[in-house]
Parts: sequence; structure tokens; C-alpha cells
Amino acid sequence: MRETIGFPRALLFYYYYPAWRAFFESLGQICVVSGETTKAVIDSGIKVTVDEACLPVKAFHGHALSLSDTCDRVFVPRLVSVEKKAYICPKLMGLPDMVRQNCSGIRRILDPCIDMSRNSRAYKREVYATGRLFTGNGRKIHAARERAKQTYQAFAKLLQGGLAPIDAMTRLDLLDTPGDNGSRSSLGISTPAKAENNRPLVIGLLGHPYIIYDSFLGMNVMERLRLMGAHVVTMDMLSPQVIEQEAAKSKKRVFWTIGRKLLGAGYYFLKPGIVDGCLLMSSFACGPDAFIGEFLQQESIRSERQVPFMTITVDEHTGEAGVLTRLEAFIDISERSMLR
Ligand code: SF4
Repeated sequence: MRETIGFPRALLFYYYYPAWRAFFESLGQICVVSGETTKAVIDSGIKVTVDEACLPVKAFHGHALSLSDTCDRVFVPRLVSVEKKAYICPKLMGLPDMVRQNCSGIRRILDPCIDMSRNSRAYKREVYATGRLFTGNGRKIHAARERAKQTYQAFAKLLQGGLAPIDAMTRLDLLDTPGDNGSRSSLGISTPAKAENNRPLVIGLLGHPYIIYDSFLGMNVMERLRLMGAHVVTMDMLSPQVIEQEAAKSKKRVFWTIGRKLLGAGYYFLKPGIVDGCLLMSSFACGPDAFIGEFLQQESIRSERQVPFMTITVDEHTGEAGVLTRLEAFIDISERSMLR
């Protein structure tokens, strides 16, 4: 039977939706995505979650609730690990339990457990078990898995080539409309900053994908930086080899996948001659970010050229005006460092 599967536009949707969509569509299912994050979405998530939850988890609940009336199932994977000997944040491991407990209005949750920490066998078993919910034909599931793999590879290539996830999904025809990041005037920016030599200011932007690529949670920072005249580079544009090489400089291996990626990209950005300023967007109440931010802060002080480094922490109370003022000051300092 054909079912409609709803995907909350939050958390690791920004990395894995293309693969999951390819998988389910190959099995004849219909995939729909919740709308962009808005204040109403956040408010509905806040109403059902505990205060201690981080903003992205609250947003996920709001997105999941927005799909409850229109979908047969809402996709809430239990993400334990996406690579050997490394893990995803515990809040994502417990996400289906949280959503079941907090969102009684959601009829059915589709919650495959993704755990690649030891080997890929358990992961394959889970993918086939998920496929069997929709077909008894093993070959079809195998073909769907292959299509998901190819789609993921094409998507990852577009990210490395410089596209943001929503734009890459649109390019692959996986979303109907590109993200609307707002016009210059609606973002409160009148004059782009001018670099005083012949090259643009380069800013390394760090942050979890569900913050920096979500224009509401991330306060449109990526677009604001671009409108201020900066060329923005994110960790997704770096090769995995560069990230691993840099992250290996940490005395102890960071076993959180995204934390390690942030650290590796941050160490790389803070080397002389790579970027003119490095900005970390973090969520209040995020455990992994608390120490990653500290490591990067120390590295920026130690580094030979002292690349300007700033952290912006967002929560449901973050005001736009305060962020804009800090961004302008950051651009100003980065320009001065560029001219040194
Ligand atoms: S890594 Fe941080 S921001 Fe992401 S879900 Fe975990 S606590 Fe929240």
C-alpha cells in the first residue's frame, strides 16, 4: 500500500533526507517535508518539550507535529552512529522516545535505528527491515538501497562543491522550492562591507547543519555574511581528509561525529592564510559544542596569525538586532586582520 511519509525539516534531515527519500520513493512511497522553520513551529515544539532540551530538538518536535495530520507516518530515526567508532549526540539517539512521549498526536512513527559503530551488518539489517514494512520483495529493497547510496554520493558532491543542503536538494529535484533566505533589506543590511584589497573577505562558518542552514534557527547568518560582502566557507565544503587530519591534532580523539568535524574544520580555518575570520554558531544547552567552542577559542589565541574567532549562541530568546550588531563588529575585526 502507498503511504505518505513525513520528514521533519530539522536535525540531520539536512544531511540524510536525499538518501532516505530515494530509498522510500524507490519502494513506491510518497515523501513530504515539513515547511521552513517559523516562530509558530518553534513555539509548538517548546510547548511539548522539557526546558533543558536544546533549540534544534525543540524545533524538531514542532516540525514533527506539523506533519501529524497529513502523513501516515512521521520519520524519526534513532541515529546512534554513522561511522565506525564514533557516535551522534545522545539526544538524537533518544529522539523517537522523546517524540513518542511528547507528541501524542502523532499516530505512527517510523524509527529505524542507524548504528554503524561496529560494522555495517546491523545497519544493512535495519535498512532491509525498514524496506520490508513496504514490500516483501528483497530485490526491490536492494535496488532502493543502491539508489539511496548513489543519491547520497551525488548530494555530498554538491555540498563539497559549495552548495548549501537545501540548494543541493533543489538541484537534485528533491525539494520543490529553494530556501528563501530573505532580501537584503529584510535582513537589515544596507551596505556590503568592502574589502580594501582585491580579494573578498573569507569567513569560515562553523555549526551544526541544522543551525547554520536553517535560516530561522541560524538567524540567517550565512546570508547576512554574504550580503556584507564575505565569501562564506563551511565545514561541508572541506574534504573529509582535511577534516580528519586536523581533528587528529586533538590529544584525545573526539568520538562525536559532528563534533569531530567541527573541530577539524575549525583547526583548519584557524591556520594562517585560510580564512580571515572564523564564526561558530552554537545552540544553548549543547553539550558537545561547549567543549568544541572552548578548544577552538584556545586555538585561535595560540595560532600564529590570531584569526578572529567568535561564537554566537542561539536559543529561543535570541534577538535579531543583537546578532546583527555582533556580526558587523566581527566583520570589522576580520577586515582589520586581513590587512595586517
Ligand atoms: S549536538 Fe548539541 S545542538 Fe545537536 S542535538 Fe545534541 S545537544 Fe542539540
